[in-house]
Amino acid sequence: MRDDADVRPWIYGGLGLAAAWCAPAPASVLPFVAQTLRIPLRIRNDSCVALTFDDGPHPQGTPAALELLAGAGAKATFFLVGEQVDRWPEVAAEIAAAGHEIALHGYRHRLMLRRTTAAVERDLDHAAEIIAATTGVAPRCYRPPYGVFSAGGLALTRRRGWAPMLWSRWGRDWEAQATPADIARRASADLRPGDVVLLHDADFYSSAGSWAKTAAALPSILDAARATGEPLVSASQST
Ligand SMILES: [Zn+2]
Repeated sequence: MRDDADVRPWIYGGLGLAAAWCAPAPASVLPFVAQTLRIPLRIRNDSCVALTFDDGPHPQGTPAALELLAGAGAKATFFLVGEQVDRWPEVAAEIAAAGHEIALHGYRHRLMLRRTTAAVERDLDHAAEIIAATTGVAPRCYRPPYGVFSAGGLALTRRRGWAPMLWSRWGRDWEAQATPADIARRASADLRPGDVVLLHDADFYSSAGSWAKTAAALPSILDAARATGEPLVSASQST
């Protein structure tokens, strides 16, 4: 049986902010909230699986993921962090050159609920500009750090024409104690057409070296995705 309680952000709660401002925050906790706010957790056409990688580019983690994806002939979506694109522009360009989808994860990796809409706007516009200039691709999809939207941030995302995207399966690959087997099992268990799988190709905002465990888990996850019988597609194909 599918465990929807497993689909929750890893930092959420206890922020004490106004209820209206926080309303979109539990979208990745409660599928009905996501549905009401039209924030996709899954690919809408239910005839494909999307693998997504957050927090890069990373000088080791991204090439490791790219090599495994190329070996499997698979395409994925990379939600890039602007400050890391500034540090590793050639790695960001490599993702686009390999034909993967380039998506937006912000310039700084900060919780949206703790920022004003003006600050979020500056951050996202700056990130989109850096990413487009570096990769030659204007991002079409946006996922906030920790999967948490504020009301203002969600409205801004839509004004800019970026499709909001969360996830339906994850490997919890940021956890210090996670093994490659744990990551593969959590990301692949009950994987079905339409799922969006959250992984991380970087350890800038998670436990040190987590990218290596994600890379070790990736072959099993790719096998499980192929076993659904559906093609692997980019996240923007759900919109
Ligand atoms: Zn992130």
